[in-house]
Amino acid sequence: MFQKILIANRGEIACRVASTARRMGIQTVAVYSEADAGSRHVEMCDEAVLIGPAAARESYLKGDAIIAAARATGAQAIHPGYGFLSENEEFAQACAEAGLVFIGPPASAMRAMGSKSAAKTLMEKADVPLVPGYHGDRQDSAFLRQQADRIGYPVLLKASAGGGGKGMRIVERGEDFADALASCKREAISSFGDDKVLVEKYLTRPRHIEIQVFADTLGECVYLFERDCSVQRRHQKVLEEAPAPGMTAERRRAMGVAAVNAAKAVGYVGAGTVEFIANQDGSFYFMEMNTRLQVEHPVTEMITGTDLVEWQLRVANGEALPLTQEQLRIDGHSIEARIYAENPEKGFLPSIGRLRHLRAPDAVCFARNAGGAPGSPAAVRIDAGVREGDEISPFYDPMIAKLIVWGPDRQQALARMRQALAAYQVVGLSTNVAFLQRLMDSEAFSSADLDTGLIEQNRETLFPAPRPATAATLALAAAALLGAERAPAGAPANSKPWLLQNGWRMNGQLARALAFGDETGPRDVTASYAGDGWSLAVDGARHTLEPVRADGSELAVKLDGQLLRGSVVREGDVFHVYAAGRHTALAHTDPLAHAGEAEAEAGALTAPMPGKIVAILVAAGATVAKGAPLLVMEAMKMEHTISATHDGVVEKLLYEVGDQVTDGAQLLTLSALED
Ligand code: ADP
Ligand code: ADP
Ligand code: MG
Repeated sequence: MFQKILIANRGEIACRVASTARRMGIQTVAVYSEADAGSRHVEMCDEAVLIGPAAARESYLKGDAIIAAARATGAQAIHPGYGFLSENEEFAQACAEAGLVFIGPPASAMRAMGSKSAAKTLMEKADVPLVPGYHGDRQDSAFLRQQADRIGYPVLLKASAGGGGKGMRIVERGEDFADALASCKREAISSFGDDKVLVEKYLTRPRHIEIQVFADTLGECVYLFERDCSVQRRHQKVLEEAPAPGMTAERRRAMGVAAVNAAKAVGYVGAGTVEFIANQDGSFYFMEMNTRLQVEHPVTEMITGTDLVEWQLRVANGEALPLTQEQLRIDGHSIEARIYAENPEKGFLPSIGRLRHLRAPDAVCFARNAGGAPGSPAAVRIDAGVREGDEISPFYDPMIAKLIVWGPDRQQALARMRQALAAYQVVGLSTNVAFLQRLMDSEAFSSADLDTGLIEQNRETLFPAPRPATAATLALAAAALLGAERAPAGAPANSKPWLLQNGWRMNGQLARALAFGDETGPRDVTASYAGDGWSLAVDGARHTLEPVRADGSELAVKLDGQLLRGSVVREGDVFHVYAAGRHTALAHTDPLAHAGEAEAEAGALTAPMPGKIVAILVAAGATVAKGAPLLVMEAMKMEHTISATHDGVVEKLLYEVGDQVTDGAQLLTLSALED
């Protein structure tokens, strides 16, 4: 076996490869960009080499720098992960020329599958079923239009060199063909440097079902069953599961054999995935082959009890596949959810920023029933490349983690996924966690009524109108606020002020308005001291609120005598409340606190919470008086005015209208007026 390998990737997949290598006693070398100097994958490897600036083009895509790093550190092989150079045949070739083992298929197999068009031509010869379409060399518009007319609308145009859901256009009618073709070609050339396209029949309500294959250098090739990846947004996977609901043994075998034939047709070696598009009646067609380890490989590991990275290393080392087709079997059900830093409500736009607070569900391992698949005893597995305090930067994929669960059947896997999602707490940027929770709860997903349009068809339930925060949520936030005010000055953050016995007095204060707002607008909450706790009025209704326990962000209170538990994490002026498996962000406006902060930051005006600049009321060079409105931000669907902290001259405006700003970002600079 290799003594040392280099991992030519970053994030969760670099960490995932490193942990298997460590388990096998193999030394690891990380490569990293300037933006990743302090990242988890660097920390996890035995050595690390800086390969360039943040932009992938200048670091993770620089094959020569990576090969030089491997030679300098004495690594014998390179694992490319997914993305980046993993499907780059020139890189695989260059590794071989440098005497390094590329942990992946031979360059010739990557070349054969690299073009969707050429791959389809090959598959046709290997008798693998194809979606009706045209994938030949003729590219003139009139000819392709004729092909589309012949196939019948709707058709799908795809960039032959495409990937990651990019370079696709659905064409509903002949009249729209020419424009769609031009736009598809434009995207194809700019994203992939190649404007060749193919035309396919666009299937309605299809499922995406893919087969994991594995081949060794001794001529063996097996399939490790299927994954259903139908739940997608913008043609990109959100949820993946194995096995595919409703799959019959015969169809599984037919798809497995077709996938193995596809792999054999190109002399495949290592881990690969053959993607099929399937009709609801079960008929299936070859879509493409991904010649690498796939993002969603863990669901296959969970149901087969294998470690596919170990398999990759063994195959690259010339060993035989660890299991034969007959030895492979399915045990239980697994689901993966991709936890993304993104904003589902805003078209799934990536959300960048710092992970100011991050709590992931606990990984759960237990011994499976005797006779079950060996190894991989995890029931809840988290593959993450980031930690609390790390940044999700605009340079790379905004995936925070993959959450993978296993259960003896789909229902139990689903229950575990719900429970695990409810335990996620991410503060500092937007995530898709709440959206994933709604997906789990949706009738369509929970009853396995799957097709690639699931998200679109269920927009109403998946994107409900904002609901007002409950009294329980407001009570937890109020308790956090009022409790924090009682903490003795200079007390450590995790001190337990509530356990102090000497009284709950809010020195002489009577009823006081707590200026909370939720997504629906300002909320009417007032609190006053009452006995051992507070009397809380929410929308005019009176409640008693008693503190029970506080431990860091974890709170326990009694609301009207009923025990409530939750976490409240403050981010600037936003209170993030996690209770009953839900996350609610409440904005809090505290004029007193603001005056204090402003004093401390003489001349620097910062965003009180993440949000968007909606108006700038002054120009650079303007003289302003203390208290003058300078700029308006929108956050939590409410406007917040940033005012001058002192008399001065506006030196520099650091943002423009429409810009998104993170919590604490300096917005403008204000110099002091000279006497
Ligand atoms: P999958 O079918 O496994 O979802 P994709 O083709 O969507 O695979 O891409 C796999 C992963 O690689 C994704 O997370 C994507 O962000 C990343 N990726 C794809 N292309 C690139 C690239 N050119 N540079 C960096 N990462 C990439
Ligand atoms: P990529 O290289 O971007 O992964 P694929 O060819 O694998 O491209 O297609 C990505 C997704 O687009 C599929 O998972 C499926 O949801 C959708 N898709 C692809 N081809 C078709 C088709 N012929 N009809 C309907 N949907 C399709
Ligand atoms: Mg694909």
